[in-house]
Amino acid sequence: MKKSFVLALSCFFILSQAGFGSSSQTGLSTQSKPIVDYRIKAKLLPEEKAVKGQETLTWLNDSNQPVSELQFHLYLNAFKDNNSTFMKESGGAHRGYKADKENWGHIRVTKLLDANGTDLLSTLEYIQPDNGNKDDQTVARVRLPQPVSPHKKITLQIEFYSKLPKVFARSGFYENFFMVGQWFPKIGVLWNGKWNCHEYHLNSEFFADFGVYEVELTIPEGYVVGATGKRMREVKNNDKTKTYTYYQEDIHDFAWTACPDFVEFKEKFTLDSPRVDTEIILLISRSHLNQKERYLSSLKKGIEFYSQNYGPYPYPTITLVDPPFAASGAGGMEYPTLFTSMAISFLPKGLRFPEMVTIHEFGHNYWYGMVGSNEFEEAWLDEGINSYSEVKAMARYYGKESSMLDFMGLKASDFNFQRAQVVSSGRMDPILKNSWAYFSGGSYSMNSYSKAALMLLTLENYLGEEVMSRVMRTYFERWKFRHPTSKDFVKVAEEASGQDLSWFFNQFLYSPDKLDYAVGSISSRPLEKTEEKSKEKKEAAKEGQSKEAGQKEKIFKNEVVVVRKGELVFPQEILIEFEKGEKILEKWDGKERWKRFVYIKPSKLRSARLDPEEKILLDVNFKNNSFLAKRDRLSPLKYALKTMFSFQNFLSFVSF
Ligand SMILES: [Zn+2]
Repeated sequence: MKKSFVLALSCFFILSQAGFGSSSQTGLSTQSKPIVDYRIKAKLLPEEKAVKGQETLTWLNDSNQPVSELQFHLYLNAFKDNNSTFMKESGGAHRGYKADKENWGHIRVTKLLDANGTDLLSTLEYIQPDNGNKDDQTVARVRLPQPVSPHKKITLQIEFYSKLPKVFARSGFYENFFMVGQWFPKIGVLWNGKWNCHEYHLNSEFFADFGVYEVELTIPEGYVVGATGKRMREVKNNDKTKTYTYYQEDIHDFAWTACPDFVEFKEKFTLDSPRVDTEIILLISRSHLNQKERYLSSLKKGIEFYSQNYGPYPYPTITLVDPPFAASGAGGMEYPTLFTSMAISFLPKGLRFPEMVTIHEFGHNYWYGMVGSNEFEEAWLDEGINSYSEVKAMARYYGKESSMLDFMGLKASDFNFQRAQVVSSGRMDPILKNSWAYFSGGSYSMNSYSKAALMLLTLENYLGEEVMSRVMRTYFERWKFRHPTSKDFVKVAEEASGQDLSWFFNQFLYSPDKLDYAVGSISSRPLEKTEEKSKEKKEAAKEGQSKEAGQKEKIFKNEVVVVRKGELVFPQEILIEFEKGEKILEKWDGKERWKRFVYIKPSKLRSARLDPEEKILLDVNFKNNSFLAKRDRLSPLKYALKTMFSFQNFLSFVSF
């Protein structure tokens, strides 16, 4: 999801007939070990704003232990009433949109049988593994009459009824627009021998196993339909409905949308290097038709960037959904091979929010979709890595200095936005924390998105672009279609760079503290006569000057003091310049609280600048990194931010 987009925006403007089944038709040959196999038949009931479904779920026990209990997400129950964990955490509002108390949503399992026809529904029990909120019904467990043996499968027949809420947060309906996510009983992840099945939270909602989905959607004629995966079949029924069959392997979720007012555009997209061959499907609200090219062009850039930098986009389709403006709560959301973006018809071209959201949400096909990290416990692995990727993609295609904003003389990059959030925030939490345990929604998003992005950009500057590129490619290649953790990322980074990076990640992942170095003072003092004579001799000898030349010039004792103002440590470079033009680049490990550099020279200091190439992007105050001797000895050299600082502060203010 793209939190900052909506927040930032709100500050500006309060049919194929093919058969299916074979993997070659869907472009993948089950690269994942399929743990789940869903065959779902669902019918949209537009009048009731509901979906009625039948689901055949086959689940593989991939552990070495027998399993006698299954756990399920029943996430639409987050919208059941005021008492769900989601509603308590959100206060009934999400991104500025409020829950409509006349239009709650829920999911009810109406039938649950095993392969022998044994009724398991009577054993279904709601549990609250995260916070003990007894009113939350987003996770349920089911006891089995006999355990599933290691490496064996179980098949269940499930029937369910999903009442959609009026959309304010991600899923639901608005008039005849339906965005249907988190809508079916979905099994949790048996991970390291235990069920990992979290309640539906305000700040996170995704962690599931990879497998196969074949979904038949029956929808009234006249609706335009889009869904995860490839449409394999479209059949007209006698009751003025159509049944669309979608199929996809190597995914861990399935979402769909339907609306009679969508305009559909389809086009092939290919890349030669690496080889990519996919079909772009754009479902755009009629009132946003003038934004069509912006969506298509930025999506193509996204596919190209992620394919070239991490690995080729492997799925046969990618569907971009543009929700109607009144249903903007459904915008900026990721699902496998389908995502929602957001636009406003009168948005000027220089405000690149639709482009940024499109690239970000597409990018989640990599960091979340294919690399299936646990969003509940380690959200930075998808949101942070994806924000890092997004910043780089935006800079590449839209200009380093003005990738987000180039309008009426104002310029700002995506990086400026991310950094503005980090420098202006309180330091209440580390990057790595359970998503529901952060001090606030702002602290969650600052850490999981912006600070994690800046951490990776800083790492890239430290390791060099080539090494970092190797880190990211290796991580993607090794962990696609699996469930990595932060430790796995660190391991890949250390292996691909050949360096011990524990000092880096131990600080930035686990500590809420700040990184801030400053030039404390600089001074140049003429040496006293006696002092001068002996020092002068030494200095002159060192510099190979003649005794006479040395005697004629005035000699100065020059001092630069650099200080570590924050708790976190990072090796520093200091560029020291003298009035006569000499430059010295000092290195400091940054460990002590301060370091003094002294130079006896026939020249005064002109300036001292920490991190002269601006590589350490996590330093929360760039303004105190420089000190110019002559102009103003009391105040630091004003750091020329690449954009208007007041503008950044304004954005940060409205973001939290
Ligand atoms: Zn996101």
